[in-house]
Amino acid sequence: MSNSSHFTNKDRQYKAVFFETFGCQMNKLDAELSLGLLQEEGYRIVDKVDEADVILFNTCSVRQHAEDKVYSHLGALKTVKKRNPEVIVGVLGCMAQKDGESIFKRMPHVDLVCGTRMFSRLPELLLNIKNHGSHVLAVDEDQIVNVKRAVTFRPNFYQAFVTVMRGCDNFCSYCIVPYVRGREISRTIADIKEEAQALVSNGCKEVTLLGQNINSYGKGLAGGVTLGDLLSQLNDIDGLERIRFVTSHPADMSRDLIRTINRLEKVCKHLHMPAQSGSDQILERMRRGYTAGYYRDFISYARELIPHISVASDFIVGFPGETDEDFQKTVQLMEDVRFQNCFIFKYSPRTGTKAADLEDDVIDEVKRARNKKLLELQKGISLEENKKLIGTKVQVLVEGGSKSDPNRLSGRTRQNHIVVFNGSQDMVGRQIDVMIHEVTDLTLFGKPENYS
Ligand code: SAM
Ligand code: SF4
Repeated sequence: MSNSSHFTNKDRQYKAVFFETFGCQMNKLDAELSLGLLQEEGYRIVDKVDEADVILFNTCSVRQHAEDKVYSHLGALKTVKKRNPEVIVGVLGCMAQKDGESIFKRMPHVDLVCGTRMFSRLPELLLNIKNHGSHVLAVDEDQIVNVKRAVTFRPNFYQAFVTVMRGCDNFCSYCIVPYVRGREISRTIADIKEEAQALVSNGCKEVTLLGQNINSYGKGLAGGVTLGDLLSQLNDIDGLERIRFVTSHPADMSRDLIRTINRLEKVCKHLHMPAQSGSDQILERMRRGYTAGYYRDFISYARELIPHISVASDFIVGFPGETDEDFQKTVQLMEDVRFQNCFIFKYSPRTGTKAADLEDDVIDEVKRARNKKLLELQKGISLEENKKLIGTKVQVLVEGGSKSDPNRLSGRTRQNHIVVFNGSQDMVGRQIDVMIHEVTDLTLFGKPENYS
């Protein structure tokens, strides 16, 4: 079935949909695409469950905690459904793909379970429920890589995420993603460029390219294209000012790509390249395909070529068998590399992955203590690094009102620092220079040039 509208006017629902997303940027983008599709079919988006005819949860299954949260939200909908049996409840995305039919057994009031590669059929699936009744399961492995985008429907007018590939072939031993998002499929450069061009024509200034393992972009496409080729092509789009990309995998990252990033003026000098651990033994058991030494050398190379490049990372603490000595090596890596920021996760066993066969032998108390230690260490490093920016001028793409103080403006530097400042509305959507005079570990505060 194509993405074009397949409804007659009689079929059209004009109903209210409540949509909540859990998890990563990829899920957020899937939500944006799904909402765009539903809006085209006449659905209205509401932000209160009580006002909705359709309630959809777009889910995450990377850690148990994320799943528990969704099941608890779903449980709470039992009373809503009792009050109004006409309401449609749907579970979408990673948890839907992973748990499939069993969701109906555990939560009989759920009407729809729609996997990671089926959400482009959402309007049709909702119609099926209306016409044929509840418990519609859609978790086939459709090879959908292009989903029509309603370019006018996006949360941030000046910034947009663009999927360049779906799935992952890496099979890190702890990770559920390859099982729930399937094998890697890359979109063609022509498709991605067309989407980026349409976004720019609609006012977008910055695109962030999304892929679970973005450095292997192009695998399977004709002509041996690479992420570097894609970045070069996008760099030529008139009106596009900034290009970002996530997430980089150290084993697939190349020095050639660093040279390309250096050469292309629109590509932001920022890497999100998760190290996961500083211990070679743990990295091997995680099946990451690199050592801590390799990671350090790579970052040194990148910083030699691009001194102002910023680097962010993810770490998992409490992986099976992680000793105090292993953990110290992670602390050491963090101290040596001095990341701009890091996401720290407690290991959570995922049924079906290789690591789930290993005993989850680091007790929760130790996981929590290690998590806290890394968070505190990173907080200190971020603050020290940000302090170095006091008295310097940074270039900010202004996104709009600050979340913490809507009277002030907020935006990001090319290195991905959040900057908050007093300014005028006409600055929104523009790149402006801001002089930094105060910082926290998370935010820079400053004053735009020529603004009194
Ligand atoms: N593809 C990206 C990569 O390889 O870096 C990230 C994918 S994953 C959605 C985001 C982060 O979740 C990972 O970098 C990892 O640190 C963490 N993660 C994945 N599986 C986990 C698990 N079973 N327990 C705890 N953290 C996990
Ligand atoms: Fe998961 Fe590893 Fe793939 Fe990232 S690269 S999505 S951590 S399997």
